[in-house]
Amino acid sequence: MQVPLLDLKPQYRALKSEIDAAIERVCDAQAFILGPGVRELEAAVAAYSGCSHGIGMSSGTDALLAALMALDIGEGDAVITSPYTFFATAGTIARAGARSLFVDIDPATFNLAPAAVERLLREDCERRDGRVVHRATGTVVRALMPVHLYGQMADMTPLMALAREFGLRVIEDAAQAIGAADGEKRRACSIGDIGCLSFFPTKNLGAFGDAGMCVTNDAALAAKLAMVRVHGMEPKYYHQLVGGNFRLDELQAVVLSIKLKHLDAWTLGRQENACFYYEAFERAGLKGTVTLPAALPGVRHIYNQFVVRFPQRDALKKFLGECGVGSEIYYPVPLHQQQCFAPLGYQTGDFPESERAAAETLALPIFPELSRGQLQYVVDCIAHFYAHHG
Ligand SMILES: *Cc1c(COP(=O)(O)O)cnc(C)c1O
Repeated sequence: MQVPLLDLKPQYRALKSEIDAAIERVCDAQAFILGPGVRELEAAVAAYSGCSHGIGMSSGTDALLAALMALDIGEGDAVITSPYTFFATAGTIARAGARSLFVDIDPATFNLAPAAVERLLREDCERRDGRVVHRATGTVVRALMPVHLYGQMADMTPLMALAREFGLRVIEDAAQAIGAADGEKRRACSIGDIGCLSFFPTKNLGAFGDAGMCVTNDAALAAKLAMVRVHGMEPKYYHQLVGGNFRLDELQAVVLSIKLKHLDAWTLGRQENACFYYEAFERAGLKGTVTLPAALPGVRHIYNQFVVRFPQRDALKKFLGECGVGSEIYYPVPLHQQQCFAPLGYQTGDFPESERAAAETLALPIFPELSRGQLQYVVDCIAHFYAHHG
């Protein structure tokens, strides 16, 4: 049996005639840039995310960069974020000219630990002329960028309370969390100042290439984001600020609008697969060996990834590969240990939970079209591994 980590072909097969017709309409119209399809998707994704404005962007990375630019975060500024995330989170902070201040994660959820954020703000920072200055680097702490990793929201209530107390802006990196909700039923992106979404093909709502979006409830920020997206231009050929070309393609937008209508059903499929795994690992007697992802009570976890912790992770990954089961390590190197961030001066051991997660975690297949037989096979292979190597 083969169980790929992700197979997008069944999803396309199911929607092929509708999607192909929509692509053909864009081709017939030859209107590829910021057309009606982009506006339609922006309205639909904003509403889906509990926001009043959507600004389509060329990728999730560009959405993060545009959000930082729209908040005037740059040279001399710092942004608090997680070292256990995809590179773009801190990569865009660096590209904006600012410094990442990393804070460790909660080992149960893999998301930013609010108590660690609070410690950084209270112990390592001080107020000077109404600004919050990080003492060791002299940077002004301007924003908090929580990541809703793997499809579950970061603990936003204490994070927002800290942001308010210290006057920080909040950018939600919701690239993996479209439609996720916390225990108060608040959707990802609807709580901070700007939410950033990615429509990279492996995300729960995936385009046919790169695409992303910023969503917000702040009309002035929405207008600024729309300007940043087109070289700071408003009106045409008059540039109020230096932006970029961060536009979302019309072709991607029409594909995404069709897929968005199915997103809730796909999410349900992922949640059902997660439930199956919980029961199957229990039946296999692996509950003590394998740490399954902790979905907090009352939250809407959208399972962009189903990430478990294993002893002997690397040997197991190799064995699963030999069994025809796809898996992936998200992420093998925390950002504070990345070569390009060496100038930030962090050391191994600075964020032990992030480092431990990088050494122990493995993502298993969870996409909605998987059969029960395939899911059971994944569990059987893992049980076999521990029976012989455990
Ligand atoms: C995918 C992802 C991004 C970047 O999105 P792209 O569309 O690939 O540029 C940013 N942050 C996180 C957490 C992601 O998973």
